[in-house]
Amino acid sequence: MSSVGAMTSPTSGASAASKAPGVTSVDEVLALVRARGGRATASRRILLEVLFESSDHRSVEDLASDVQARAPEVHLSTIYRNLEELERLGVIAHTHLGHGPATYQLATSAHSHLVCECCGRRFEAPDELFAELARQASQRYGFSIDPRHFAILGRCANCVQEQEMASSGG
Ligand SMILES: [Zn+2]
Ligand SMILES: [Zn+2]
Ligand SMILES: [Zn+2]
Repeated sequence: MSSVGAMTSPTSGASAASKAPGVTSVDEVLALVRARGGRATASRRILLEVLFESSDHRSVEDLASDVQARAPEVHLSTIYRNLEELERLGVIAHTHLGHGPATYQLATSAHSHLVCECCGRRFEAPDELFAELARQASQRYGFSIDPRHFAILGRCANCVQEQEMASSGG
């Protein structure tokens, strides 16, 4: 038992289970970090706790304010270093959802997105949506696509319909 663990909110366990089906606890992720040659430091534990409890994608700024709310002594530079190192170890991943800053999540919850440029609505896209594209890219160019890194931008069904009505209605 570490002293940092005592600082977690009592709800962290419950939300973790529903959040990331691949891993069930921060301890499990930290075990993975150690197994891959990384160090399970107190500041990394806090960062992972914040990611576990997040219901949405978090930018570096969001994460920094959450981490510092719990442990004000953790410097921003440490948070940046931890994000970089945890990503290198493959336990967290970042994604770009449009024009905003990159957002982070646990690698086990990583997924692809469709983002509407008109209204900003965001949809999770299943991997099989990109299966044919992945096959073609690999076959023709030997290229392995990573559809989770960047969102596909466009217009959602609502916005397409609104525009059609506006143009046909006169
Ligand atoms: Zn990137
Ligand atoms: Zn839209
Ligand atoms: Zn998402």
